[in-house]
Amino acid sequence: MFTKADALKLDADDMLKHKRAEFSIPEGMIYLDGNSLGVLPKAAVARVKHAVDVEWGVDLITSWNKHGWFQKPLVIGNKIARLIGAPKDSVIVADSISINMFKVLSAALAKNPSRKVIVSDSGNFPSDLYVAQGLSGFLNDGHTLRVVEPEAVMDAITEDVAVVMLTETDYRSARRHDMKAVTDKAHAMGALIIWDLAHSAGAVPGRLEEVNADFAVGCTYKYLNGGPGSPAFIFVHPRLQNEVMPALVGWWGHAAPFAFAPEFEVASGIIRMQCGTQPMLSMQALDAAIDVWADVEMVDVYAKAQKMCALFTELAEARCGAHGVTLYGSRDFAHRGSHVCLRHAQAYAIMQALISRRVIGDFRAPDMMRFGFAPLYNSYTDVWDAVEVLREVLDERLWDVQQFRERKAVT
Ligand SMILES: *Cc1c(COP(=O)(O)O)cnc(C)c1O
Repeated sequence: MFTKADALKLDADDMLKHKRAEFSIPEGMIYLDGNSLGVLPKAAVARVKHAVDVEWGVDLITSWNKHGWFQKPLVIGNKIARLIGAPKDSVIVADSISINMFKVLSAALAKNPSRKVIVSDSGNFPSDLYVAQGLSGFLNDGHTLRVVEPEAVMDAITEDVAVVMLTETDYRSARRHDMKAVTDKAHAMGALIIWDLAHSAGAVPGRLEEVNADFAVGCTYKYLNGGPGSPAFIFVHPRLQNEVMPALVGWWGHAAPFAFAPEFEVASGIIRMQCGTQPMLSMQALDAAIDVWADVEMVDVYAKAQKMCALFTELAEARCGAHGVTLYGSRDFAHRGSHVCLRHAQAYAIMQALISRRVIGDFRAPDMMRFGFAPLYNSYTDVWDAVEVLREVLDERLWDVQQFRERKAVT
């Protein structure tokens, strides 16, 4: 059986171990929620301080030029591009995933006007489905959302489909779609494809260019550690960039924003996917967070993540299985995301008990405890210690108190 000494040995041999020191992790905390909100990169503290004290405090409006504020969305987009397998000038940072999904879905539907079906799956993050429903209602042109089980996606892509909209990595089961196969099928049927990379960016090696994806969106506050509410990204394949027109346009997507012309004239390239002014303090924090990735390869990050997920699952099943803890979803550790969901009828209370003991994960309805593994700052010792605390909480029924049953607004 795997022991704590084995975990320490794995940490000693870990080629990414030096990265942990670049993050600010509270003393004694085992943070396994980087898939929801990544921890604070130390460099972001100094960067935001400079942005407040000097850029905002002293240089004020001149910072748009002097500190490159205006170019930040594309500069950061190009740094993210390497991580998600996208070519230069195909990624821009702006807004939230939900808003960006509205932009790319509207642009994709407009490019395929004779077709009215949007295909997605039941494992998709609800916000994407809501955006598709809201946009279809707004267009009032007969669009329908066809939601099928993840395993049925390939068969659901038929010749009436305008757009396939999927999340690569399921936010609960961690199952990953075969991006290449699904993209090829969509294209063979004359449909466009949109990939949501929320649980992939910074977790799995990106392949957007390799699979010939049309559009993608993703957030930066999860594995990329950009900070709470940090702006999301949009990818549009270069072959489509000058052919698409998002439904949300604004002066930041204008060909000459400072001409202040009354007529909208769309900018060329990925710039057109911007609407208006972006949150610069958040942008600066994100820029510093993305620089942390400059010396790592996603294949190494992924290899460690898979090892941590497999180990966590194996230990949890062996040491907590008697209490009814089971794995939810994919056991295919070579083809999954970087988090593990464990099911238990008392999942909510157990998670609250874990959090009170400084093991931080989250709860996903109806009965899942979700644990994210971020290879840049999580260690194999974290994996071992987290399961040890879980075992203790279950063995001693430490979750079985009223205070842990009361649901909070954010789970
Ligand atoms: C986290 C997440 C989102 C979040 O969308 P926001 O609009 O940025 O809040 C969207 N899609 C998926 C798949 C997610 O996991």
